[in-house]
Amino acid sequence: MSNGEDIYGNIMELAKKRGIFWGSFDIYGGLAGFYDFGPVGVLLKRNLINLWLKTFVYSNDLVVEIETPIINPRIVFKASGHEESFMDPVVECLKCGRVYRADHLVKEAAGIDVEGLSPEEIHSAILRNNIKCPECGGELGKPFYTLLLFKTEIGPYKGETGYLRPENAQGMFINFANILRVARNRLPLGIAQVGKVARNEISPRQGLLRLREFTIMELEFFFDPEEVREASWYINSIADVKVRVLTSEARLRGVEEPAEYTIRELVEKQIVKTPWLAYWIGLGEVFARRLGIPHEKIRFIEKLPHERAHYSQQTFDQEVYTEKYGWIEIAGYAYRTTYDLSRHIQYSKADLTFFKHYEKPVERIVSKAYPDPGKIKDLYGGEKGRIMERLAQKTPEEIYRELAGKGYVEVEGLKIPSEAFIVKQEREKIHGEKIIPHVVEPSFGVERLLYIVLEYSYTVRDGKTVLKLPVYLAPYHVAVFPLVTGKKQEHVRIVEIARHIYRRLVTRGFRVIYDDDGSIGRRYARVDEIGVPYAVTVDYQTLEDDTVTVRDRDSTLQERVKIDELEKYLLMKYGFQPDLLTP
Ligand code: AMP
Repeated sequence: MSNGEDIYGNIMELAKKRGIFWGSFDIYGGLAGFYDFGPVGVLLKRNLINLWLKTFVYSNDLVVEIETPIINPRIVFKASGHEESFMDPVVECLKCGRVYRADHLVKEAAGIDVEGLSPEEIHSAILRNNIKCPECGGELGKPFYTLLLFKTEIGPYKGETGYLRPENAQGMFINFANILRVARNRLPLGIAQVGKVARNEISPRQGLLRLREFTIMELEFFFDPEEVREASWYINSIADVKVRVLTSEARLRGVEEPAEYTIRELVEKQIVKTPWLAYWIGLGEVFARRLGIPHEKIRFIEKLPHERAHYSQQTFDQEVYTEKYGWIEIAGYAYRTTYDLSRHIQYSKADLTFFKHYEKPVERIVSKAYPDPGKIKDLYGGEKGRIMERLAQKTPEEIYRELAGKGYVEVEGLKIPSEAFIVKQEREKIHGEKIIPHVVEPSFGVERLLYIVLEYSYTVRDGKTVLKLPVYLAPYHVAVFPLVTGKKQEHVRIVEIARHIYRRLVTRGFRVIYDDDGSIGRRYARVDEIGVPYAVTVDYQTLEDDTVTVRDRDSTLQERVKIDELEKYLLMKYGFQPDLLTP
């Protein structure tokens, strides 16, 4: 990261100039909270997503990936609780009519945290601190909460109400039984999804940090809370990774600096309510470091109860330091327990439970009640047949429970007394039970991370921008330049060789950019600006000895390498695999 200067402004300028990203709909004056990604931006985004997938999904045997719709019927967000609770507080200026996100405004103006407080409490904070409209100085009205879901209609004529999803999570909950079946019916089970979401944010003003449409990388991890032994096998692989954590208990004591813990300590000191939370937090730290963010610029903040989302029993925010905005949340880790599955079971009536097999069957004495046909005939005569049929629809256990509770069993409005049944105590083997799994969810926003990655890779050398991106994030692994492009025979030969090298590297799996426009110096500068780690130039000497120059982005040193050895040379420089995960 470069110091001083307006790094944010520089990045926004670079992003537009080099086709990374820019505000959407610019020919129509733009629209806050929407961004377009250009040729370099889409590659950066894809590499970032691939790195997340590699770290969270494809380097363990716990997680599978799915894809579900962005548009959902209303029932989904009734069940999830979003329709009721996914709201942010708004405040309007009584003079100029501008609207603000009330909690952000209070934070910016008075440094006070009012996240999650009631409108009245936020209003009194505004009055106490004499906060006015930042634009016109006018009085502010009473804050109120507004729904952040985007609403739409499904079907063209008198359609059904639908919502655009504000997170991917519900797609995973709804599909729990489907995935469980294809994933060998076992817990723990993680289901991941990367996809677009939409949130009708109140006043998005922070570039890529607060968007109305963005991409979330999310994982719902389902487990049996009584069976967490397996967690330690996975945790062992990252047990010594250090994380900086500020617990809610420390925050309540007024502590502001996080303390350092290993992942093992998070579990042993019971800082996390389930060891799986520690595991995903550990991977989150590893992931952020792979993005080029140093350990001391990463921290995990435990949310206080009133700051947590409606579904969460414990939440940590992972934050990264940015020069422009200070500490920014890059991910949330929520312990959603059984909340979501229980709600979808309640609303859909589907069976979203897991059948937990006991290691050994358990023997139990079970009380059962059987209808006595003779007694029923005595009591109800000709209706006996029908009553017996109805009673057969209940299990003997259910009949016993009903008798024990009410003293009779009800069928078709008749109260059949206990003397019509024979009660027995029976010994039975129980092989398992249905449980609703608990869920831990790590959730990352892609675009926000992309901005942060740019900030951390942004450097200036001799007045020129160099993005020092890790190789696996770089839009291209290598650039190929012909020194000259004229019509002379030797120039044509140089272009042919450069084209040939381009093709060969592409077919070997490298991401390659070919550039023959302008002076070599300008071309180096252009690829430095988008972070291409190596540039290969074919020149006159190539025609004599089959060598090319390879220039290193970071050291600017150039080496001559035989064309035949180019691929091996690059692989060695990258540590034998361009997309290798380091550190
Ligand atoms: P949340 O579900 O609110 O915890 O969001 C998950 C992640 O998405 C956050 O940690 C951010 O990285 C990202 N995120 C949330 N809201 C926005 C937004 N409005 N614009 C861009 N990224 C966001």
